[in-house]
Amino acid sequence: RQLTLHRLLLELSQASQQDELTGLLNRRGLIAHLNQVPIQHDQAQAVVYLDMKRFKPINDSHGHTAGDEVLIQIARRLDYAMDQAVRLANGTSARITRIGGDEFVFCLCTKHDAQWVQDVFCTAILDSLVEPFSYNDSQFFLGASMGIVTSLPGQRLNASDAISNADIAMYQAKHIGQPAMCFDQAMRQQLDRELEIEARLRLAVEQDGITAAFEPIMDLHTGKVLGFEALARWTDAELGRVRPDQFIPIAERTGLIDQVFQAVASQALTVCKQVTATVQQDLFFSVNLSKAQLTDDRLFDQLVALTDRHRVDPRRLHLEVTESLVASSDDMVDKLHRLRKLGHPLMLDDFGTGTSSLSCLKAYPVQWIKIDRELTDAADKSRQYAAIIQAVADLASNLGMTLVAEGVEEANTIPLLQGMDVGAAQGWFWSKPLEPGQVAQWLAEHKQKGKQRCRVA
Ligand code: C2E
Ligand code: MG
Ligand code: MG
Repeated sequence: RQLTLHRLLLELSQASQQDELTGLLNRRGLIAHLNQVPIQHDQAQAVVYLDMKRFKPINDSHGHTAGDEVLIQIARRLDYAMDQAVRLANGTSARITRIGGDEFVFCLCTKHDAQWVQDVFCTAILDSLVEPFSYNDSQFFLGASMGIVTSLPGQRLNASDAISNADIAMYQAKHIGQPAMCFDQAMRQQLDRELEIEARLRLAVEQDGITAAFEPIMDLHTGKVLGFEALARWTDAELGRVRPDQFIPIAERTGLIDQVFQAVASQALTVCKQVTATVQQDLFFSVNLSKAQLTDDRLFDQLVALTDRHRVDPRRLHLEVTESLVASSDDMVDKLHRLRKLGHPLMLDDFGTGTSSLSCLKAYPVQWIKIDRELTDAADKSRQYAAIIQAVADLASNLGMTLVAEGVEEANTIPLLQGMDVGAAQGWFWSKPLEPGQVAQWLAEHKQKGKQRCRVA
């Protein structure tokens, strides 16, 4: 009787360490394995965290039965590839586990180093995923990102630290588009900083901590102000000033970008109403849109509500979208047409840094093209780049678009831009981004300066 009880307990414990769907070890099994597997004095322990790419759409569009079936195929292939890789390597043993959704972890004991794990082991695993997976009549091309943690020879990894660090390295690999990366401490610091920014940003959006700064956009022929670009600004009580290139990507990833946009656009429309009344000139205000916003259909209602609430003509609110965002998928162009139908003029931002070709421009319903600061700078220094800008300017004028040069810092860039038929420009030469309260005064001063110049002439 005791024997059967013992066996029952054993079976129960085995079952609790097993993933039901694939029959592989589960997270509990993984931790037990990492803590118990014998390690020889010349063997290092390695944890490889693998996250499948493009798996989620299978569940979303073909249902969970399809997803489950493909997961079983993935598990088989990974298990087989691991066995083959281990067989070819001296002094190496390995176990595979499924620790959730489409995430798998390999635990290795090996006489080879981290470089071998990355170059040989991970490559073999990746190769096994190249052939498409199939369910009924559908085929799926998947891929994977991997993160690696290794111990010193003869030493055991702390199971939960190793899993979490390998996860961080995987995330980093995915982020920069590499198949596999080894963990280093700087990755954790970076992640900690991002998590801190995320937590503080949540508070900031709730407490109206995101403000806008306004950079004037000038007509290069008349010297008059055409409008302002509204740029997000955030000074946190604990973190100090956080730059937009640090918090915008985090806002995009966490969905907070909607609220950031609302804050910036609301302030832009408030300032727009104030200054239009005082300077009696129709100025536009442009706001930057992110990819996450364009893939979410709520954007259209949000924009209508925004301009209604502020009683501002949508033509006064320009929307900036980057060239790489527009080129990223075919439906982006449809979305732009929908934004145009709402009345918003569109500006193609950071032109010259992406990959889209000139021939695409005519398909884009944009009215303005902003040449990135790098390209403006390059044109200042090289004739070749100047010729590129001239070609874009010719094309733009044929298509009825206006070119705006970004990042003008020096007076002597202006005649150069005028010579290339660039119609408008912005940059620190005219003004660094202004606080909302400074805009009206800056406009008044600028007008005064313009009058003085006329009198001198
Ligand atoms: P961007 O839209 O291309 O904005 C222009 C950036 O160049 C701004 O940086 C601006 O301050 C800077 N700049 C303008 N003139 C000069 C100049 O003469 N010299 C130099 N060195 N820099 C100049 P900022 O404000 O740091 O913003 C960086 C990027 O962050 C923006 O690039 C934009 O992509 C993004 N961003 C800013 N605010 C928002 C926002 O509200 N929403 C979204 N989605 N993105 C935003
Ligand atoms: Mg912009
Ligand atoms: Mg730009």
